[in-house]
Amino acid sequence: MPELPEVETFVRALRAPLVGRAIVGMRNDWARHIAAPPRDELVARIAGRRIETIGRRGKYLVFTLSDDETLIIHLKMTGHLSVVPAGATADPHAHTVFELDDGRELRFRDPRKFGRVYLVRDPAIILGPLGPEPLTDAFTAEELAACLARRKRVLKPLLLDQTFIAGIGNIYADEALFHAGLRPTRRSDMLTAEEAGALHAAIRKVLALGIDRQGASVRTYYTAEGKRGEMQDEFAVYDRTGQSCYNCCGPIERIVLGGRSTHFCPHCQR
Ligand SMILES: [Zn+2]
Repeated sequence: MPELPEVETFVRALRAPLVGRAIVGMRNDWARHIAAPPRDELVARIAGRRIETIGRRGKYLVFTLSDDETLIIHLKMTGHLSVVPAGATADPHAHTVFELDDGRELRFRDPRKFGRVYLVRDPAIILGPLGPEPLTDAFTAEELAACLARRKRVLKPLLLDQTFIAGIGNIYADEALFHAGLRPTRRSDMLTAEEAGALHAAIRKVLALGIDRQGASVRTYYTAEGKRGEMQDEFAVYDRTGQSCYNCCGPIERIVLGGRSTHFCPHCQR
């Protein structure tokens, strides 16, 4: 579930405790967390590496390490990261733990176990297929309009496609389409230039708001410091089936599109 704003919230919280620290060891009790390389190789290669920067690409956390190694973590459904003293109460759901040189550890908690860890020399192997980063200056309304016209797909599933735009998931797709006034079932190549511009503005608006509110605490998400995010208080349509639209007072509807719950206002979104 963590989408771009939730992952960015983790990144910002982890920089202070982690940048400059060295990873002195690691533990793992769920081999499938380690996507690449094989676990024994990853454990050997990561030991002694210093964390130089922490960033984000789409929904991936990207840790650049010394000696040209890059640690990449995807939180998937229920992943959570926190830095705690090594002697803190053991967490049975912390399946991968990175031990630090200051007596603390970075715990990757993941009850559903769908998360993934990669150690690579070339980050493009993992990150290369991702679409543009929607909050950068390089992501313009003109570029989005051109990409929408090329893809010829239904809007909602297209927004969830990480090769189209990186970082958007079910929550922020529904919210962006509401703020753009666009039905989730519209075809991407049938939008006017104004509609594409409205979608561009709406995507950036809801993602920036999500970061400002430290993410959406629906179901399992909470911040690295153990606090609830507040983006759920800003939802216009997501998870509001049958409730009144804040704009027109009509009921919010729910449909399933591409296998995903989709929430919209039939009056305000056309
Ligand atoms: Zn409405």
